Amino acid sequence: MSFGDEVTSDEVENDVYDALGVPTVVNAAGTKTRIGGTLIRPEALEAMREAATSFVHLSELHERAGELVADITGSESALVTNGAAGAMVLAAAACIARDDYGVMDRLPNTEGVPDEIVMPRTHRTGYDRSFRTAGATIVDVGTNDRHLGTGSKDLKRWELADSIGDDTAAVGYVQKPFSQPPLDTVVDVAHDAGVPVIVDAAAEIPPTENLSRFFAVGADLVVFSGGKAIRGPQTTGILAGHDELIESAALQHLDMHAAPAPASSPVDTYIESAGGDIPRQGIGRALKVGKEEIVGLVRALECFVDEDQSAKRTTWAKRARRIAGQLAPIEGIETHVTEPGVSVAPEVIVSVGTEATLSAVDLVSELRSEEPRIVVGSDSLDDGEFAINPMCLSREEGDYVAQRIQAHLS
Ligand SMILES: *Cc1c(COP(=O)(O)O)cnc(C)c1O
Repeated sequence: MSFGDEVTSDEVENDVYDALGVPTVVNAAGTKTRIGGTLIRPEALEAMREAATSFVHLSELHERAGELVADITGSESALVTNGAAGAMVLAAAACIARDDYGVMDRLPNTEGVPDEIVMPRTHRTGYDRSFRTAGATIVDVGTNDRHLGTGSKDLKRWELADSIGDDTAAVGYVQKPFSQPPLDTVVDVAHDAGVPVIVDAAAEIPPTENLSRFFAVGADLVVFSGGKAIRGPQTTGILAGHDELIESAALQHLDMHAAPAPASSPVDTYIESAGGDIPRQGIGRALKVGKEEIVGLVRALECFVDEDQSAKRTTWAKRARRIAGQLAPIEGIETHVTEPGVSVAPEVIVSVGTEATLSAVDLVSELRSEEPRIVVGSDSLDDGEFAINPMCLSREEGDYVAQRIQAHLS
Protein backbone atom coordinates (compact mmCIF):
# COMPACT_ATOMS: atom_id res chain seq x y z
CA MET A 1 0.00 0.00 0.00
CA SER A 2 3.00 2.23 0.17
CA PHE A 3 4.99 2.84 -3.01
CA GLY A 4 7.64 3.97 -0.58
CA ASP A 5 5.39 5.87 1.81
CA GLU A 6 5.29 4.77 5.38
CA VAL A 7 1.77 3.64 6.04
CA THR A 8 0.57 1.86 9.14
CA SER A 9 -1.06 -1.52 8.76
CA ASP A 10 -4.18 -0.13 10.45
CA GLU A 11 -5.03 1.35 7.10
CA VAL A 12 -5.55 -2.14 5.75
CA GLU A 13 -8.83 -2.07 7.64
CA ASN A 14 -11.20 -0.11 5.53
CA ASP A 15 -14.72 0.86 6.50
CA VAL A 16 -16.05 1.06 2.95
CA TYR A 17 -15.02 -2.47 2.03
CA ASP A 18 -15.95 -3.69 5.53
CA ALA A 19 -19.46 -2.36 5.10
CA LEU A 20 -19.73 -4.19 1.79
CA GLY A 21 -18.36 -7.35 3.37
CA VAL A 22 -15.55 -7.53 0.84
CA PRO A 23 -12.16 -8.46 2.33
CA THR A 24 -9.25 -6.13 1.57
CA VAL A 25 -5.99 -7.39 0.10
CA VAL A 26 -2.45 -6.99 1.37
CA ASN A 27 -0.75 -6.58 -1.98
CA ALA A 28 2.55 -8.44 -2.20
CA ALA A 29 2.20 -8.93 -5.95
CA GLY A 30 2.87 -5.45 -7.39
CA THR A 31 0.61 -3.38 -9.63
CA LYS A 32 -1.86 -6.03 -10.74
CA THR A 33 -5.16 -4.81 -12.15
CA ARG A 34 -7.15 -7.71 -10.74
CA ILE A 35 -6.40 -6.69 -7.15
CA GLY A 36 -6.95 -2.99 -7.71
CA GLY A 37 -3.93 -1.99 -9.77
CA THR A 38 -2.49 0.79 -7.74
CA LEU A 39 -3.24 3.08 -4.84
CA ILE A 40 -4.15 6.40 -6.32
CA ARG A 41 -2.02 9.32 -5.15
CA PRO A 42 -3.64 11.53 -2.50
CA GLU A 43 -2.92 14.56 -4.72
CA ALA A 44 -4.79 12.97 -7.62
CA LEU A 45 -7.69 12.02 -5.39
CA GLU A 46 -7.91 15.59 -4.12
CA ALA A 47 -7.89 16.91 -7.70
CA MET A 48 -10.69 14.48 -8.58
CA ARG A 49 -12.74 15.62 -5.61
CA GLU A 50 -12.47 19.22 -6.85
CA ALA A 51 -13.15 18.21 -10.44
CA ALA A 52 -16.39 16.65 -9.29
CA THR A 53 -17.82 19.98 -8.18
CA SER A 54 -18.12 21.71 -11.60
CA PHE A 55 -19.27 21.01 -15.11
CA VAL A 56 -16.80 21.45 -17.91
CA HIS A 57 -16.74 20.87 -21.68
CA LEU A 58 -15.18 17.43 -21.95
CA SER A 59 -13.63 18.34 -25.32
CA GLU A 60 -11.95 21.40 -23.79
CA LEU A 61 -10.75 19.41 -20.80
CA HIS A 62 -9.47 16.63 -23.07
CA GLU A 63 -7.66 19.19 -25.19
CA ARG A 64 -5.84 20.80 -22.26
CA ALA A 65 -5.11 17.47 -20.56
CA GLY A 66 -3.80 16.15 -23.87
CA GLU A 67 -1.45 19.15 -24.21
CA LEU A 68 -0.07 18.66 -20.70
CA VAL A 69 0.40 14.92 -21.18
CA ALA A 70 2.01 15.48 -24.61
CA ASP A 71 4.44 17.95 -23.02
CA ILE A 72 5.47 15.42 -20.40
CA THR A 73 5.76 12.54 -22.85
CA GLY A 74 7.49 14.56 -25.55
CA SER A 75 4.90 13.51 -28.13
CA GLU A 76 3.04 15.69 -30.64
CA SER A 77 -0.36 14.98 -29.10
CA ALA A 78 -1.95 12.87 -26.42
CA LEU A 79 -5.33 11.72 -25.20
CA VAL A 80 -6.37 10.53 -21.75
CA THR A 81 -8.05 7.18 -22.25
CA ASN A 82 -9.87 4.47 -20.40
CA GLY A 83 -6.86 2.36 -19.39
CA ALA A 84 -4.02 1.24 -21.61
CA ALA A 85 -6.40 -1.37 -22.99
CA GLY A 86 -8.84 1.38 -24.03
CA ALA A 87 -5.95 3.29 -25.60
CA MET A 88 -5.15 0.20 -27.67
CA VAL A 89 -8.70 0.06 -29.05
CA LEU A 90 -8.43 3.73 -30.05
CA ALA A 91 -4.94 3.23 -31.50
CA ALA A 92 -6.18 0.47 -33.76
CA ALA A 93 -9.29 2.47 -34.69
CA ALA A 94 -7.13 5.48 -35.58
CA CYS A 95 -4.74 3.45 -37.74
CA ILE A 96 -7.61 1.78 -39.57
CA ALA A 97 -10.00 4.72 -40.04
CA ARG A 98 -7.50 7.61 -40.23
CA ASP A 99 -9.62 10.62 -41.28
CA ASP A 100 -12.37 8.65 -43.02
CA TYR A 101 -15.72 9.30 -41.29
CA GLY A 102 -17.35 6.47 -43.20
CA VAL A 103 -14.87 3.94 -41.87
CA MET A 104 -15.14 5.44 -38.37
CA ASP A 105 -18.87 4.91 -38.60
CA ARG A 106 -18.56 1.30 -39.77
CA LEU A 107 -15.94 0.03 -37.31
CA PRO A 108 -15.53 -2.70 -36.22
CA ASN A 109 -16.60 -3.59 -39.75
CA THR A 110 -13.45 -3.03 -41.81
CA GLU A 111 -14.62 -4.17 -45.21
CA GLY A 112 -12.61 -2.54 -47.96
CA VAL A 113 -9.91 -0.93 -45.80
CA PRO A 114 -6.52 -2.18 -44.54
CA ASP A 115 -7.19 -3.68 -41.11
CA GLU A 116 -4.25 -5.96 -40.34
CA ILE A 117 -2.03 -5.30 -37.35
CA VAL A 118 1.22 -7.20 -37.76
CA MET A 119 2.86 -8.35 -34.52
CA PRO A 120 5.95 -10.35 -33.69
CA ARG A 121 4.57 -13.69 -32.48
CA THR A 122 6.46 -13.33 -29.17
CA HIS A 123 4.51 -10.11 -28.52
CA ARG A 124 1.05 -11.62 -28.45
CA THR A 125 -0.69 -11.04 -25.11
CA GLY A 126 -4.26 -11.25 -23.88
CA TYR A 127 -4.43 -7.47 -24.20
CA ASP A 128 -4.15 -7.51 -27.99
CA ARG A 129 -7.85 -8.38 -27.83
CA SER A 130 -8.21 -4.58 -27.73
CA PHE A 131 -6.90 -4.30 -31.31
CA ARG A 132 -9.45 -6.83 -32.48
CA THR A 133 -12.20 -4.96 -30.64
CA ALA A 134 -11.68 -2.07 -33.05
CA GLY A 135 -11.99 -4.46 -36.01
CA ALA A 136 -8.32 -5.27 -36.61
CA THR A 137 -7.12 -8.69 -37.63
CA ILE A 138 -3.88 -9.62 -35.95
CA VAL A 139 -1.24 -11.18 -38.16
CA ASP A 140 1.51 -12.65 -36.02
CA VAL A 141 4.84 -13.44 -37.59
CA GLY A 142 8.15 -15.06 -36.74
CA THR A 143 8.61 -17.94 -34.32
CA ASN A 144 7.71 -18.21 -30.70
CA ASP A 145 10.92 -20.00 -29.88
CA ARG A 146 13.46 -18.64 -27.46
CA HIS A 147 13.96 -21.74 -25.35
CA LEU A 148 14.09 -24.87 -27.50
CA GLY A 149 17.57 -24.30 -28.83
CA THR A 150 16.60 -24.92 -32.46
CA GLY A 151 18.32 -21.73 -33.56
CA SER A 152 15.25 -20.09 -35.04
CA LYS A 153 14.40 -17.26 -32.70
CA ASP A 154 11.81 -14.52 -32.72
CA LEU A 155 11.46 -12.50 -35.90
CA LYS A 156 13.85 -11.62 -38.72
CA ARG A 157 13.84 -8.26 -40.39
CA TRP A 158 12.90 -9.78 -43.75
CA GLU A 159 10.04 -11.72 -42.17
CA LEU A 160 8.54 -8.54 -40.81
CA ALA A 161 9.00 -6.71 -44.13
CA ASP A 162 7.44 -9.65 -45.96
CA SER A 163 4.37 -9.67 -43.72
CA ILE A 164 3.53 -6.00 -44.35
CA GLY A 165 1.35 -5.46 -47.36
CA ASP A 166 -1.64 -3.63 -48.80
CA ASP A 167 -3.87 -4.86 -45.97
CA THR A 168 -1.59 -3.67 -43.17
CA ALA A 169 -2.94 -0.87 -40.97
CA ALA A 170 -0.16 -0.89 -38.38
CA VAL A 171 2.57 -2.88 -36.70
CA GLY A 172 1.97 -3.73 -33.02
CA TYR A 173 4.86 -3.94 -30.56
CA VAL A 174 4.82 -4.83 -26.84
CA GLN A 175 7.61 -3.08 -24.99
CA LYS A 176 9.48 -5.00 -22.29
CA PRO A 177 13.15 -4.63 -21.36
CA PHE A 178 13.76 -7.94 -23.19
CA SER A 179 11.52 -7.39 -26.26
CA GLN A 180 12.93 -8.66 -29.54
CA PRO A 181 13.51 -7.51 -32.23
CA PRO A 182 14.54 -4.05 -30.98
CA LEU A 183 11.94 -1.33 -31.48
CA ASP A 184 14.19 0.71 -33.79
CA THR A 185 14.46 -2.23 -36.21
CA VAL A 186 10.69 -2.69 -36.24
CA VAL A 187 10.10 1.05 -36.73
CA ASP A 188 12.62 1.09 -39.55
CA VAL A 189 10.95 -1.76 -41.44
CA ALA A 190 7.42 -0.46 -40.81
CA HIS A 191 8.23 3.10 -41.87
CA ASP A 192 9.97 1.80 -45.02
CA ALA A 193 6.59 0.31 -45.88
CA GLY A 194 4.73 3.49 -44.85
CA VAL A 195 2.99 1.83 -41.89
CA PRO A 196 2.69 3.25 -38.32
CA VAL A 197 3.93 1.41 -35.22
CA ILE A 198 1.78 1.12 -32.08
CA VAL A 199 3.76 0.43 -28.90
CA ASP A 200 2.09 -1.11 -25.86
CA ALA A 201 4.24 0.20 -23.01
CA ALA A 202 1.45 -0.08 -20.44
CA ALA A 203 3.63 -1.17 -17.54
CA GLU A 204 7.04 0.16 -18.66
CA ILE A 205 7.28 3.16 -16.40
CA PRO A 206 9.27 3.77 -14.27
CA PRO A 207 11.86 4.67 -15.46
CA THR A 208 10.41 8.10 -16.15
CA GLU A 209 12.51 8.39 -19.31
CA ASN A 210 10.36 5.69 -20.90
CA LEU A 211 7.55 8.24 -21.15
CA SER A 212 9.40 9.80 -24.09
CA ARG A 213 11.95 7.17 -25.12
CA PHE A 214 9.76 5.30 -27.62
CA PHE A 215 8.89 8.47 -29.53
CA ALA A 216 12.58 9.22 -29.85
CA VAL A 217 12.95 5.80 -31.50
CA GLY A 218 10.12 6.62 -33.92
CA ALA A 219 7.01 5.00 -32.46
CA ASP A 220 3.87 6.55 -33.95
CA LEU A 221 1.51 5.75 -31.08
CA VAL A 222 2.39 4.65 -27.54
CA VAL A 223 0.04 3.50 -24.80
CA PHE A 224 0.67 3.70 -21.07
CA SER A 225 -1.44 2.63 -18.14
CA GLY A 226 -2.42 5.42 -15.74
CA GLY A 227 -3.37 2.96 -13.05
CA LYS A 228 0.00 1.31 -12.51
CA ALA A 229 3.14 3.06 -11.22
CA ILE A 230 1.86 6.51 -12.25
CA ARG A 231 -0.76 5.96 -9.53
CA GLY A 232 -3.58 7.75 -11.29
CA PRO A 233 -7.17 6.52 -11.27
CA GLN A 234 -7.17 2.78 -11.93
CA THR A 235 -9.35 3.22 -15.01
CA THR A 236 -7.08 5.68 -16.84
CA GLY A 237 -4.51 5.36 -19.57
CA ILE A 238 -2.61 7.46 -22.08
CA LEU A 239 -2.53 7.34 -25.84
CA ALA A 240 0.22 9.57 -27.22
CA GLY A 241 1.72 10.09 -30.64
CA HIS A 242 1.29 11.83 -33.97
CA ASP A 243 -1.24 14.63 -34.31
CA GLU A 244 -3.32 13.10 -37.05
CA LEU A 245 -3.62 9.72 -35.35
CA ILE A 246 -4.51 11.24 -31.99
CA GLU A 247 -7.08 13.45 -33.71
CA SER A 248 -8.63 10.41 -35.31
CA ALA A 249 -8.68 8.65 -31.93
CA ALA A 250 -10.27 11.73 -30.27
CA LEU A 251 -12.97 11.89 -32.92
CA GLN A 252 -13.82 8.26 -32.32
CA HIS A 253 -13.75 8.70 -28.55
CA LEU A 254 -15.95 11.71 -27.81
CA ASP A 255 -19.61 12.45 -28.10
CA MET A 256 -20.03 13.85 -31.58
CA HIS A 257 -23.70 14.57 -31.99
CA ALA A 258 -23.62 17.84 -30.06
CA ALA A 259 -22.63 21.20 -31.54
CA PRO A 260 -18.85 21.54 -31.69
CA ALA A 261 -17.21 23.07 -28.63
CA PRO A 262 -15.30 26.34 -29.12
CA ALA A 263 -12.86 26.02 -31.98
CA SER A 264 -9.25 25.14 -31.20
CA SER A 265 -9.80 21.84 -29.43
CA PRO A 266 -8.10 19.13 -31.48
CA VAL A 267 -11.49 17.70 -32.25
CA ASP A 268 -12.79 20.98 -33.55
CA THR A 269 -9.71 21.80 -35.58
CA TYR A 270 -10.13 18.45 -37.19
CA ILE A 271 -13.79 19.07 -37.82
CA GLU A 272 -12.95 22.44 -39.37
CA SER A 273 -10.51 20.83 -41.74
CA ALA A 274 -13.33 18.49 -42.76
CA GLY A 275 -15.54 21.48 -43.60
CA GLY A 276 -17.39 21.50 -40.26
CA ASP A 277 -18.85 18.07 -40.79
CA ILE A 278 -18.91 15.82 -37.75
CA PRO A 279 -18.91 12.04 -37.49
CA ARG A 280 -21.28 10.23 -35.16
CA GLN A 281 -20.23 8.49 -31.95
CA GLY A 282 -17.33 6.22 -32.75
CA ILE A 283 -16.17 2.86 -31.50
CA GLY A 284 -14.34 4.53 -28.62
CA ARG A 285 -17.47 6.16 -27.20
CA ALA A 286 -18.00 3.13 -24.99
CA LEU A 287 -14.61 3.88 -23.42
CA LYS A 288 -15.65 7.14 -21.79
CA VAL A 289 -13.29 8.87 -19.36
CA GLY A 290 -14.93 11.11 -16.75
CA LYS A 291 -13.80 14.64 -15.97
CA GLU A 292 -12.63 13.48 -12.55
CA GLU A 293 -10.48 10.73 -14.07
CA ILE A 294 -8.96 13.07 -16.67
CA VAL A 295 -7.99 15.55 -13.96
CA GLY A 296 -6.76 12.79 -11.66
CA LEU A 297 -4.52 11.28 -14.32
CA VAL A 298 -2.93 14.61 -15.19
CA ARG A 299 -2.23 15.39 -11.53
CA ALA A 300 -0.85 11.90 -10.91
CA LEU A 301 1.43 12.13 -13.93
CA GLU A 302 2.77 15.52 -12.80
CA CYS A 303 3.52 14.07 -9.35
CA PHE A 304 5.05 10.93 -10.86
CA VAL A 305 7.63 12.82 -12.92
CA ASP A 306 8.53 14.94 -9.87
CA GLU A 307 9.22 11.90 -7.72
CA ASP A 308 12.70 10.83 -6.72
CA GLN A 309 12.76 7.49 -8.52
CA SER A 310 16.07 6.37 -7.10
CA ALA A 311 14.89 6.97 -3.51
CA LYS A 312 11.87 4.85 -4.30
CA ARG A 313 14.03 2.06 -5.69
CA THR A 314 16.20 2.20 -2.56
CA THR A 315 13.11 1.84 -0.35
CA TRP A 316 11.86 -1.13 -2.37
CA ALA A 317 15.26 -2.83 -2.20
CA LYS A 318 15.45 -2.24 1.57
CA ARG A 319 11.97 -3.61 2.06
CA ALA A 320 12.71 -6.70 -0.05
CA ARG A 321 15.87 -7.43 1.97
CA ARG A 322 13.98 -6.96 5.24
CA ILE A 323 11.28 -9.45 4.20
CA ALA A 324 13.89 -11.93 2.96
CA GLY A 325 15.67 -11.61 6.31
CA GLN A 326 12.46 -12.35 8.20
CA LEU A 327 11.75 -15.41 6.06
CA ALA A 328 15.31 -16.79 6.23
CA PRO A 329 14.92 -18.71 9.54
CA ILE A 330 11.76 -20.52 8.43
CA GLU A 331 12.38 -24.18 7.75
CA GLY A 332 11.49 -25.71 4.44
CA ILE A 333 11.83 -22.57 2.32
CA GLU A 334 14.69 -20.80 0.62
CA THR A 335 14.65 -17.17 -0.35
CA HIS A 336 16.66 -14.87 -2.53
CA VAL A 337 16.22 -11.28 -3.66
CA THR A 338 16.28 -10.64 -7.41
CA GLU A 339 18.47 -7.99 -8.98
CA PRO A 340 16.47 -4.80 -9.32
CA GLY A 341 15.66 -3.96 -12.93
CA VAL A 342 15.42 -0.39 -14.15
CA SER A 343 11.68 -0.52 -14.41
CA VAL A 344 10.77 -2.94 -11.66
CA ALA A 345 11.34 -3.44 -7.96
CA PRO A 346 13.53 -6.31 -6.73
CA GLU A 347 11.41 -9.24 -5.58
CA VAL A 348 11.83 -11.82 -2.85
CA ILE A 349 11.65 -15.23 -4.50
CA VAL A 350 10.53 -17.93 -2.08
CA SER A 351 11.19 -21.57 -3.04
CA VAL A 352 9.10 -24.00 -1.06
CA GLY A 353 10.93 -27.29 -0.54
CA THR A 354 9.38 -30.75 -0.19
CA GLU A 355 10.20 -30.74 3.54
CA ALA A 356 7.91 -27.73 4.13
CA THR A 357 4.57 -28.44 5.85
CA LEU A 358 2.66 -27.01 2.87
CA SER A 359 3.32 -27.02 -0.86
CA ALA A 360 3.84 -23.68 -2.62
CA VAL A 361 0.39 -24.00 -4.21
CA ASP A 362 -1.32 -24.72 -0.88
CA LEU A 363 0.56 -21.97 0.94
CA VAL A 364 -0.30 -19.37 -1.70
CA SER A 365 -3.94 -20.38 -1.71
CA GLU A 366 -4.10 -20.29 2.11
CA LEU A 367 -2.69 -16.75 2.03
CA ARG A 368 -5.09 -15.77 -0.69
CA SER A 369 -8.18 -16.98 1.17
CA GLU A 370 -7.51 -15.59 4.65
CA GLU A 371 -8.68 -12.14 5.79
CA PRO A 372 -7.28 -9.76 4.93
CA ARG A 373 -6.32 -11.57 1.73
CA ILE A 374 -2.61 -11.78 1.04
CA VAL A 375 -1.76 -11.91 -2.65
CA VAL A 376 1.78 -12.84 -3.71
CA GLY A 377 3.24 -13.19 -7.21
CA SER A 378 2.37 -16.65 -8.43
CA ASP A 379 3.74 -16.83 -11.98
CA SER A 380 6.23 -19.60 -11.05
CA LEU A 381 4.03 -21.67 -8.74
CA ASP A 382 4.50 -24.73 -10.96
CA ASP A 383 8.18 -24.61 -10.05
CA GLY A 384 7.34 -24.50 -6.34
CA GLU A 385 8.09 -20.77 -6.13
CA PHE A 386 6.28 -17.57 -5.40
CA ALA A 387 7.38 -13.94 -5.33
CA ILE A 388 6.89 -11.11 -2.87
CA ASN A 389 6.94 -7.74 -4.59
CA PRO A 390 7.61 -4.80 -2.25
CA MET A 391 6.17 -2.05 -4.50
CA CYS A 392 2.72 -1.97 -2.90
CA LEU A 393 3.69 -2.99 0.64
CA SER A 394 4.33 -0.71 3.58
CA ARG A 395 7.03 -1.87 5.96
CA GLU A 396 4.39 -3.05 8.42
CA GLU A 397 2.56 -4.93 5.73
CA GLY A 398 5.82 -6.58 4.66
CA ASP A 399 6.33 -7.70 8.26
CA TYR A 400 2.77 -8.97 8.36
CA VAL A 401 3.21 -11.02 5.17
CA ALA A 402 6.37 -12.61 6.59
CA GLN A 403 4.56 -13.41 9.86
CA ARG A 404 1.66 -15.04 8.05
CA ILE A 405 3.98 -17.18 5.94
CA GLN A 406 5.76 -18.26 9.11
CA ALA A 407 2.45 -19.05 10.81
CA HIS A 408 1.35 -21.27 7.91
CA LEU A 409 4.65 -23.14 7.80
CA SER A 410 5.10 -23.85 11.49
C1 LIG B 1 -1.51 -3.69 -17.70
C2 LIG B 1 -1.29 -3.88 -19.16
C3 LIG B 1 -2.27 -3.50 -20.09
C4 LIG B 1 -3.61 -2.95 -19.68
O1 LIG B 1 -3.52 -1.77 -18.96
P1 LIG B 1 -4.84 -1.10 -18.32
O2 LIG B 1 -4.42 0.29 -17.98
O3 LIG B 1 -5.19 -1.92 -17.13
O4 LIG B 1 -5.91 -1.14 -19.35
C5 LIG B 1 -1.98 -3.64 -21.43
N1 LIG B 1 -0.80 -4.16 -21.85
C6 LIG B 1 0.16 -4.55 -20.98
C7 LIG B 1 1.45 -5.10 -21.49
C8 LIG B 1 -0.05 -4.43 -19.59
O5 LIG B 1 0.90 -4.81 -18.72
